[in-house]
Amino acid sequence: MLIAIFSDVHSNLEALTAVLEDIKKEAPDRVLFLGDAVGYGPDPNECVERIFEVSDSVVIGNHDHAVLGLSDHEIFNPFARESILWTESVLTRENREKLLSMPITKHEEDLFLVHAAPERPEKWYYISSLIDAGDQFDFFEGMVCLIGHTHRPEVYIHDGKEVVLNKESMLTFQREFRYIVNVGSVGQPRDMNPDAAYVLYNTKENTLTSKRVKYNIRLTQEKMRTVQLPSFLIKRLELGT
Ligand code: ZN
Repeated sequence: MLIAIFSDVHSNLEALTAVLEDIKKEAPDRVLFLGDAVGYGPDPNECVERIFEVSDSVVIGNHDHAVLGLSDHEIFNPFARESILWTESVLTRENREKLLSMPITKHEEDLFLVHAAPERPEKWYYISSLIDAGDQFDFFEGMVCLIGHTHRPEVYIHDGKEVVLNKESMLTFQREFRYIVNVGSVGQPRDMNPDAAYVLYNTKENTLTSKRVKYNIRLTQEKMRTVQLPSFLIKRLELGT
């Protein structure tokens, strides 16, 4: 079975469209979404609709949660907060309902899906280092936990003794090891590469492939300017930061 997994679209319709075209060419059996449909970008409604059309399984992200009024806006930086307030003002009732229907974690065969971290998912901890990752393997069952949240595609591997970081674009899973796979971000990559990110998991070959897709960043930036989203958020798209 081939599974496509994407995350952190952040209302970026151009990036989402480019990724979905690429996914379509791969013809996966399942498509999984790991949260943050909205926040930061200019097209929240279109992105929520497209994500729900194509996804077989979804989990909620911290921005989706905040837009629904379920978490305190004060935990966000001023730029994120401004975009969350703007998103709240334009999101339709139907799309709010869609976001409300998203669970915070999900099991999908031997995969564990969560937006931020398996330990207390509603706390939205960041897994950004070997130390962060090391603590998390006790909080999920099975071989693979799939996450987003930091917007950096990378894999933490627990070989039974220690945790190592892998940033290669192709990886073969070994049954005796365990993995925390960050699939990166479609709509706002932060690993110095502005191209949209997602991953493919081939369960037969046991391989994970990290993919990057170019999209029309300028168009997204123009739309953000039109609706007066913060210039810091507009600039970072082309930098991949
Ligand atoms: Zn995010």
